Amino acid sequence: MPAVAESIDATAEVQGCLSKMAIMPGKKGEAARYTLRVGDERLALNACLGRPLALAWTGAIACTHCGRATKKSFAQGHCYPCFKALAQCDTCIMKPETCHFFEGTCREPEWAERHCFQPHIVYLSNASGLKVGITRGTQVPTRWLDQGAVQALPVFTVDTRQQSGFVEMLFKEEVSDRTNWRAMLKGDTFEMDLPAERDRLLSRLDGGLANLRERFGADSIRLLDEPPVTLDYPVLEYPTKVVSHNLDKNPEIAGTLLGLKGQYLILDSGVINLRKYTGYEVRVAA
Ligand SMILES: [Zn+2]
Repeated sequence: MPAVAESIDATAEVQGCLSKMAIMPGKKGEAARYTLRVGDERLALNACLGRPLALAWTGAIACTHCGRATKKSFAQGHCYPCFKALAQCDTCIMKPETCHFFEGTCREPEWAERHCFQPHIVYLSNASGLKVGITRGTQVPTRWLDQGAVQALPVFTVDTRQQSGFVEMLFKEEVSDRTNWRAMLKGDTFEMDLPAERDRLLSRLDGGLANLRERFGADSIRLLDEPPVTLDYPVLEYPTKVVSHNLDKNPEIAGTLLGLKGQYLILDSGVINLRKYTGYEVRVAA
């Protein structure tokens, strides 16, 4: 297949299985840069803004891990056997405080060594209001861009995913861990003073943090002193009413591309969360 031209005059057509979009932070004052990943093809999406875009699902889904065909996608692009076998599909990934590695029941201890027993960040972010989240240290700022956060502030670094889960649980007594994706897509956000929010939360959660440090070691949960990060997205126009496309119900979608935020395409005909369709074989014309 020929390389995809980045010329804004040419219509590009690509076909293959969807991966989540690659999002790079923009240079100072610039919007994030989005790359659509379809099989081995790459399409620079910022250049497609304001232009027609059509996306059609062929009906095929390939497991992102093993490549085998699957009728249904489990945990964002896995076949059922992988969904049941992989550590990354286990419930403890979503709820790290339930890590069962030390009970000897981890599905893939070697994978866990590389992914869970690595430094994790506990952060505050603002995609649709204040929220707490965790991510592996290497996933910053990708994680924030994937969520459509407009502001983020790393608060703690900890040694393992499980520890970050316990800190997040503590923060959840005071603050949500969810993004309201409709508000995020409408651009219903207001600027927050994240360092002030952090300081307010730290004083309220002082006792709980002391308990966790007692349990995991005095040096286990380290406060960071990093500046807040601001993130911008390429959006020409925010929808006033958010309508979602669903490829399972309607495999062909088309519209004018009005924006890119989080893992969503914002079209004048509705929005679509591409991450949800990881592994779906699609044809995209833009
Ligand atoms: Zn598989």
